[in-house]
Amino acid sequence: MAWMDTHAHLADKSLANQLDDVLARAKQAGVSQVICVAVDAKTCAEAIAIAESKEGVWASVGIHPNYAHQAAADDWNKIVEMTNHPRVCALGETGLDRHWDDCPFEVQQSNFASHWQLSCETKLPLIIHMRDCEPEMLEALSQQAGKGLLRGVMHSFSGTTETAKQCLEFGLFISFAGMLTYKKSEELRKTARTIPLDRLLVETDCPYLTPEPNRSRRPNEPSFVVHTAKCLAETVGVSAKELADITMENAKRLFWRIP
Ligand SMILES: [Zn+2]
Repeated sequence: MAWMDTHAHLADKSLANQLDDVLARAKQAGVSQVICVAVDAKTCAEAIAIAESKEGVWASVGIHPNYAHQAAADDWNKIVEMTNHPRVCALGETGLDRHWDDCPFEVQQSNFASHWQLSCETKLPLIIHMRDCEPEMLEALSQQAGKGLLRGVMHSFSGTTETAKQCLEFGLFISFAGMLTYKKSEELRKTARTIPLDRLLVETDCPYLTPEPNRSRRPNEPSFVVHTAKCLAETVGVSAKELADITMENAKRLFWRIP
């Protein structure tokens, strides 16, 4: 049985400090592939360096909505350049966030639009962050959908069933993280049951959102994706083995640079 953790911030100090141990534990748990996700130009370079040196690790390059206002003038050109790297499998994470108001919303919107433009040019999928802004996100997605096929995943999904349905109609995948395992997340598990199996992905979003039964443990790490995956398998009524095969196949279909 082999899993892919489709969203891990391995460049975060809490994980980078013990990366060999973290990746050894992942391997032991059956997590054969990990996508190392960046949030700004600095972590893009770090993610690529990790992907180059560690087996089974891939990089995503892009600018997180909460960091878009801090980007230097030439950061975007650097990121465009990085998309040619063979270990880069996705763009992001990017998206929209109304929870924190560090970055003006219009800056987030234009940052998000730049990633879509780059996705059209490179055919690389977007890893999409959405927090406290479901209507604004759906509006942005429908604008982009008018310009061509949307390739991407709504990562660490915690929205409503209706929002998930619309994201699916846009052609997007839905990825679940540790929140799915929390006792209070019954609504989210109900939503998960409405997602077609061929659109499901799993992730940790580590070092955050540690799944049950390890919820109090910090940092979260890729090996813990198996807890979220087991919860998802039970929720949707398939075996863990079936879900591993399905989500691995889905991930490779979306993140096509991963063989
Ligand atoms: Zn993330």
